[in-house]
Amino acid sequence: MSIIESLRPAPGLRVLVTAGASGIGAAVARAFCEAGARVHVCDIDRAALDRLGSEVPEITSSMADASVPEDVDLVFDDVQGALGGLDVLVSNAGIAGPTGAVQDLRRSDWERTVSVNLNSQFYFAQRAVPLLRQSAHNPSLIAMSSVAGRLGYPLRTPYAATKWAIVGLVKSLAIELGPHGVRVNAILPGTVEGERMNGVIGARAATEGVSVEAMRAQYLQKISLRRMVTLDDVAAMALFLCSPAARNVTGQAISVDGNMEYL
Ligand code: NAD
Repeated sequence: MSIIESLRPAPGLRVLVTAGASGIGAAVARAFCEAGARVHVCDIDRAALDRLGSEVPEITSSMADASVPEDVDLVFDDVQGALGGLDVLVSNAGIAGPTGAVQDLRRSDWERTVSVNLNSQFYFAQRAVPLLRQSAHNPSLIAMSSVAGRLGYPLRTPYAATKWAIVGLVKSLAIELGPHGVRVNAILPGTVEGERMNGVIGARAATEGVSVEAMRAQYLQKISLRRMVTLDDVAAMALFLCSPAARNVTGQAISVDGNMEYL
C-alpha cells in the first residue's frame, strides 16, 4: 500500500458515531460515508436524524439519549443488526453545560453535564470494546474532547471538568487496549465556525455593547492562526485516525484548534 493510499480509511469500515445527526458528529458521519465506510449514528433529536437520513440514506440510525444506559444498549442492538460488528466508535455526544460562577451553578446542571459528556463515554466504551477487540480492521475509539480538555475555562467548570476527564479515560484505555490491537485517541476541537458561533458572537457583542466585528476579533485574538476551525477540519482528523497511516497513533489528545492560546 502506498503512503497516499494508507491515508484513506479502509472501505467497508463499520463506524458508530454518537450524537451524529448534526454538528461535528454529522460531519464525521458524512465523511466516513463518503470514504466508503458503513456508518450508524445515534442522536436524541428525531427531526435531525430524519433530515440526515433523507440526505444520506446509506447512514442507518437509532434515536437515543447517550447518557441513558438502556438507550445505549438499544443502540448496540441496532448496530449489531445494521453493521454486524464494529471497527470504529466515535464517541462524540456532549453538551455545553451551564455558564456561571461555581457558587451560582445548579447541581442539576452539573449532573446533566457530567451525565451527557462523561457517563456517555463510559457507557459506549463498555459496550464497544468487546466488539472492537473482535475487529481485524484497524479498530479504534475516538472520543470528542475539546480545547477545554487542555486549558482551564473560567465560568464553564462543568464542561471543562468533563472534557479533561475524557482525556484521562482515553489515556487509560489506550494502555488497557493496546495489547489487544485497539487504538484510543481524543480529538480536541477548538472554536468551530458557522451559524452557531455567529449566534454566540452576536449575543455577546449585544450584551457587552460592542460591534459584532470587534467581538469576532476578540475571539480570533486567542487563536494563533487567527481563524476558527471548520467541521471538515475535525472530520478529516477522525478519518486520518482511522486510516492505516495512523496505525501507531494511540493514547493521544490531538488538538484541531489553530493553537488556541487561552480561553
Ligand atoms: P451540537 O450542539 O451541534 O450537537 C450535536 C448533536 O448532539 C445534536 O444532533 C444533538 O441532538 C445531539 N445530542 C445532544 N445531546 C444528546 C444526548 N444526550 N444524546 C444523544 N445526542 C445528543 O454539538 P457539536 O458542537 O457538534 O459538538 C459535538 C462534540 O464536540 C461535543 O462533545 C462538544 O463538546 C465537542 N466540541 C464542540 C466544539 C464546537 O465549537 N462546536 C468545540 C469543541 C468540542
